[in-house]
Formats: sequence, C-alpha cells, structure tokens
Amino acid sequence: MQYEAHMGAPRPDDRAVGRDTAVLVLRQSSRARSLYADMVIRQALFRLSQQQQLRSIATTNPVARSVSRRFVAGETLHEALEAVRDINAQGMTATLDHLGENVAARPEAVAATDDGVHSFRAIQAAGVRSNVSIKLTQLGLDVDPDFAFANLSRIVEAAELYENFVRIDMESSEYVDRTLEFFARLFSAHHNVGVVIQASLYRSLSDLEQVVKAGARVRLVKGAYLEPPAVAFQRKEDVDANFVRLSELLLVQGRYPAIATHDPRMIDAAKDFARAHDIAPSGFEFQMLYGIRRDLQSQLVGEGYNVRIYVPYGPHWYPYLMRRMAERPANVMFVLNNLAREVRGHRR
Ligand SMILES: Cc1cc2nc3c(=O)[nH]c(=O)nc-3n(C[C@H](O)[C@H](O)[C@H](O)COP(=O)(O)OP(=O)(O)OC[C@H]3O[C@@H](n4cnc5c(N)ncnc54)[C@H](O)[C@@H]3O)c2cc1C
Repeated sequence: MQYEAHMGAPRPDDRAVGRDTAVLVLRQSSRARSLYADMVIRQALFRLSQQQQLRSIATTNPVARSVSRRFVAGETLHEALEAVRDINAQGMTATLDHLGENVAARPEAVAATDDGVHSFRAIQAAGVRSNVSIKLTQLGLDVDPDFAFANLSRIVEAAELYENFVRIDMESSEYVDRTLEFFARLFSAHHNVGVVIQASLYRSLSDLEQVVKAGARVRLVKGAYLEPPAVAFQRKEDVDANFVRLSELLLVQGRYPAIATHDPRMIDAAKDFARAHDIAPSGFEFQMLYGIRRDLQSQLVGEGYNVRIYVPYGPHWYPYLMRRMAERPANVMFVLNNLAREVRGHRR
C-alpha cells in the first residue's frame, strides 16, 4: 500500500517502473503472507507441543513413532549409543539427551536422574565420545526446586567420577533465573558443568557476561520457545543480530564455547570472526541437532572444525519433535508425507 501511495497515477514512460514496482508489491505482500502463515503455524505447533493428551496419543502410535526417528535417535540408550558411535566415526562428538521435561511427580524425576547417572558408565563402557545434556524440569524443578537441585548434583557428581561433562539445557524464560542460579551454585564446586544462553532473550547479554566471567562453558542458541515481546526479540533479524553479537563475545572471552545453530549465516559469521581474531578452530565447537543439516555437519568437519551433535532419545519425544517442526514449518510437510507413506505401507 505504501508503494502505491507514493506512485500516484502512472505516466506512459513510467510503465516499466510501475510494472517493476507492482511486482515488488506482489512479492512483498506474498512474502508477508508467507511469514504470517509461518507464524500462525509456529504458534499452533507450540500450543500442540504442550497438549498432554496428544502427547500420549502420538507417543504410543507406531506410525508416529517411526516418523519421529528422523529427529530422535531411538527409544533406548542402547540405540542412542549406536547413533553416537556412527557420529564419532564421522569425526564428530555428541551430547546425549534422554528426552523428558516438565515432569509432575517425584518418581519420574528420580527415574530421569538415575538414567542420567547411569549414562556416564554406559558412555564409558561403549567407548564413545559423548557428554550429556539435561533439562531441570525433567529433574523435578516444577515439583520442588531443592529436590531438583539434589538430583542435578547427583548427575554432575557422577559425570565427575567418569571425567565427563553435563550441559544444563535452557528451557522457557520462566525457568532462566532458576537455571542460572542452580548452575552458579554447582559451578562453584564442579567445573564439569555448562549452561545454555538464548540469543532471543533481551537479558542474555548480561547473563552471558556473568557466566563468561565465572569461566564457564556456554552453548549459545537462538532459543526454541515461543516468548512474549516483554522478554524476547520477536523478529528473526533481531535474534540473528544478537546471536552474532553474543557469539563474538563468547569467542573472544569464553572457555571452549559452543556455537549451536544450523544457520549458515551465523556459522560463517563465527568462522570469519574467529579467523580475524586469530582464534584457532580448536578453541570452540559448532553444535547441531541430530538429523538436521547433515550436509553442513560434514562440511564443517571437512574444514577442520569441531562439531558436536545433540542426540535426543527416549520415548518422551513428542514436545521435542513439535519444537523442531515449529522451527521449520516445512518439517510438518516432511512428517505428514512420511505419515501418509507409513499408513499406506501398513494398509498393504
Ligand atoms: C546443539 C543444540 C542444542 C540446543 N539446545 C537448546 C536449549 O538448550 N534451549 C533452547 O531454547 N534451544 C536449544 N536449541 C534450539 C535452538 O534454540 C534453535 O531453536 C534451533 O537450533 C533452530 O535455530 P537455528 O539456529 O538453527 O536457526 P534458524 O534460523 O531457526 O534456522 C536456520 C536454518 O537451519 C535449518 N533448520 C533449523 N531448524 C531446523 C529444523 N527443526 N529442521 C530442519 N532444518 C532446520 C534450516 O535450514 C533453517 O533455514 C539447541 C540447538 C542446538 C543445535
């Protein structure tokens, strides 16, 4: 509309310009429409990710389970370790994530803690190169913070015993204060624990400065949760600009930082910055999610960069899968096509 207002009535020699402008208007409005459609789909997927009923329908459905395998390494630790072995063989390391979040009862949180503790022994026995990522709401943060802290301490102590490392994933903004507080308490006694900072949040520059000053290992991500304008950038350009700014700070001042993204522009920016500041590729790592941009993963390995793959596994994959679809609505088509193919296969 703005373009039309500026144009006025077209004169004969303005025709070509008018045509170009009309094409531009059409292109811009179709881009705006598609951005709007993406946003609506994203919001719907985020809402669906929180539906308990759908979660149990999806996770018990054999067809949906088989489709989830595109982004989830398997349902058992054994399957996940096989995936890690394969990843190691391609020159990359891994971080295992036993899927689960927002548990509402103590026994579930205790089981998740036991699994976390056990995984270090299993990693060592399998002889693979992997650390472990965990979510505090999986350890009972919603049930009782002191109980969750005790569970987290058990996992970090087990990691220490096996000379391994624990990354505390960052969940939605309501958990950020508690996550950073738990992290700081643990980090004062154990240095084999790291945290995640989300570029989407306004507060992240100041959070990052603090954790970097403490000498902690940080994974920088864009942020996977739908956050309100009061706390988070809403435009992708703003999140991206903040990601670049925070990654530069991390590369210069951080301790073996992790730049976790599949965005080639973010990756190129980090590479260029590191090169310009004489930061060796061995001084940091790129991280990506299992099953996403495998081409880029092996390209980075070929160029001599360290790459770590986040390997999610376990039967509670539903919210994780929904977040992956929300990040890229094209994945919805991928999943629907595969579902249709599987259903046809089952009918035969
Ligand atoms: C190792 C790792 C750990 C993470 N841990 C956390 C965490 O603790 N807390 C948290 O909030 N978030 C976490 N995330 C998720 C992160 O916040 C983003 O939501 C996610 O990485 C997508 O953003 P992007 O940086 O890849 O960039 P985007 O701008 O979203 O995507 C850039 C390009 O990457 C590809 N891509 C991105 N996502 C997908 C997808 N789902 N499927 C297919 N292609 C895709 C597409 O080609 C896309 O164009 C983690 C991500 C990684 C890689």
